[in-house]
Amino acid sequence: MKILALNAGSSSLKFALFDMAVEDCRLVKAEFENFKDGHCVLHFRLGGENSDEQIRSEPLASIEEAIQCVPTLLQEWGYSQIDAIGHRVIHGGERFTKATLIDSEVLQYIQSCTPLAPLHNPANLAGITTSKKIWPSAPQIAVFDTAFHHSLPVAAYTYAIPSAWRKAGARRYGFHGISHQYVAMRTAQAWQSPIENLRIISCHLGNGSSLCAIENGTSVDTSMGMSPLTGLAMGTRSGDVDPGLFSYLSRQCGLDINTIEQQLYSDSGLKALGGSPDLRNLEQWAAQGNLDAQLAIEVYAYSARKYLGAFAAVLGGIDAVVFTGGIGENSATMRQRICDRLQVIGLEIDDARNRKVRLRAFEAPEIASSQSRVRIFVTKTCEQLMIAKEVLTAIEGSSALPHAVCQTRQGNLYE
Ligand code: AMP
Repeated sequence: MKILALNAGSSSLKFALFDMAVEDCRLVKAEFENFKDGHCVLHFRLGGENSDEQIRSEPLASIEEAIQCVPTLLQEWGYSQIDAIGHRVIHGGERFTKATLIDSEVLQYIQSCTPLAPLHNPANLAGITTSKKIWPSAPQIAVFDTAFHHSLPVAAYTYAIPSAWRKAGARRYGFHGISHQYVAMRTAQAWQSPIENLRIISCHLGNGSSLCAIENGTSVDTSMGMSPLTGLAMGTRSGDVDPGLFSYLSRQCGLDINTIEQQLYSDSGLKALGGSPDLRNLEQWAAQGNLDAQLAIEVYAYSARKYLGAFAAVLGGIDAVVFTGGIGENSATMRQRICDRLQVIGLEIDDARNRKVRLRAFEAPEIASSQSRVRIFVTKTCEQLMIAKEVLTAIEGSSALPHAVCQTRQGNLYE
């Protein structure tokens, strides 16, 4: 069965094609980004995770145009059959606990969640609508970033706010669930232990960053909240701020709520403090003595360290920590900085092992010292693969789908 995983964001479109019948199941991975002046950049890899990346410019002005172009590209690369499509949807509200076949009623519910994720859900919805027009007979399945966090205990998801606000849907939902679930499974696999026996803290550190406390294979707390704005400082997002900031900025600076929200999403975080949302720039500038870049790095590390400590308390101790995302996978110095002073909860990085990490797909090298009570891993996240796997599970569990689509069984997708 060929499954297409689509991730339509507000500024980029990622997709990957998998053949679920074979072990090395990824056929294609691609991303359109940098839409500007009627053109965009296409990065793609033909073959598995370790294949070489190719880059070219495409005359496409928008994400919608890019989606329209996907069938032509797949044909160019030798793939014309698509059996099912999985869509990453950021916010599934309180309802969706697992991947779900999209019908008009599901589409409407996702639409109703837009106020909870105003930057993300509209882009996801546009991706679904366009994809339905291109592949009208293929089942389309929504895979939610919030679904993994449905196991949060009530004390972890409840905000201490008036009941009318809670009834309106104000609570912690959490995000990056697809990634947290995937890397937790990979950690258990590296440990060679059932995931149910482990207390894991997953650190997804990328442009968006969040931590997740995982017990018995389920999410019990996470640093993002009702929106993907809270928790750690991020590339352009503020992370935690005092809610009193809104009234203060409104009274003192005459800013309206939309402006404040937009600036908390797009003009805050590493970008606001250090002048770039990209940690590679900040690390280079910091090494040259730039104080703003040094502060941005320290604030980021401090916020991650604080949540690690808090989640160790939530879990009553930790067995493993796993780093993933662009920063978690690539920055040895950030991993070291975050774990500084965490010997108190049993984390001790081995400097040489940490610096030696050169990640390949599906590997989870260990970076803890021999004295560390907690095992520490680094692994590449693979959200598209997780989406494809969830699509397959949804299809196999659905009586509403044609038998022809359900007949292929997956191999071990995590090998
Ligand atoms: P993601 O959102 O997971 O794709 O992560 C993107 C972020 O990862 C970038 O904005 C960079 O800040 C960071 N990143 C990627 N590669 C490196 C690297 N080699 N060293 C430090 N940070 C990196």
